[in-house]
Amino acid sequence: MSDAQIRLSFFATILAIMTLWELIAPRRALTQSKLRRWGANLSLVVLDTLAVRFLVPITAIAVGAHTEAHGIGLLNQFQLSDGARLILTIAALDLIVYLHHLMFHAVPLLWRFHRVHHADRDIDVTTGVRFHPIEIVISLGIKIAAIYVVGANPWAILIFEIILNSTAMFNHSNVRIPVTIDRVLRLLVVTPDMHRVHHSIVEIETDSNFGFNFPWWDRIFGTYQAQPKEGHLKMTIGLRYFQEAPIAKMGWILLSPFYAVKRSLFRG
Ligand SMILES: [Zn+2]
Ligand SMILES: [Zn+2]
Repeated sequence: MSDAQIRLSFFATILAIMTLWELIAPRRALTQSKLRRWGANLSLVVLDTLAVRFLVPITAIAVGAHTEAHGIGLLNQFQLSDGARLILTIAALDLIVYLHHLMFHAVPLLWRFHRVHHADRDIDVTTGVRFHPIEIVISLGIKIAAIYVVGANPWAILIFEIILNSTAMFNHSNVRIPVTIDRVLRLLVVTPDMHRVHHSIVEIETDSNFGFNFPWWDRIFGTYQAQPKEGHLKMTIGLRYFQEAPIAKMGWILLSPFYAVKRSLFRG
């Protein structure tokens, strides 16, 4: 099995599990046509995969193999057990993903692409894979640089990518988890209730809870917001200036980074 096939199998399995869970125990009533949103969000996955395939000549796994073979990067300077190497790789790459997400909010040009993710007016498992192809290509460039700095091995990168993809689908899903379980769970992993705050229309909430895997970075760096002010059932999802936009139309999605809108960053 190639690494692409392994990742696709995990993607399909987690998508199926979360889809079923959303049907059995939904957290919020959806406000948009699910068929249209799912069509757009899943089409973006296909486009993103093609964009990476044709625009980026190298895979993250191949970069990992290169750093390993030539002893490049921080972790390759030490004699580490496989377990320690894996834990350190996951922690380091996850911190970089957190900082990278923060940067996509803070830099106006990058925000233009990332706001495609936030423009979704419902949040469910497919929002977790809704990203503009240009954001995906830029992210891969950052990831390749991160792999060089960290010295991540190919198998550790593959495990990290599977975990990140799975947790992104989990924490975007519209599933109901009892508050008492959520409270314990979010000490270890970003839960759907925690990440939903990040999709709030209220800007100070949009600019919080940047973590995808571990919830600790938000707590350490002061970007943690426990709950939305309006509550999970009453809060509005999306962006204030895109509430009337055709967020499920592919033409709009692909061109929306080029529309001018005013937004103040990190206010409040
Ligand atoms: Zn974001
Ligand atoms: Zn999100």
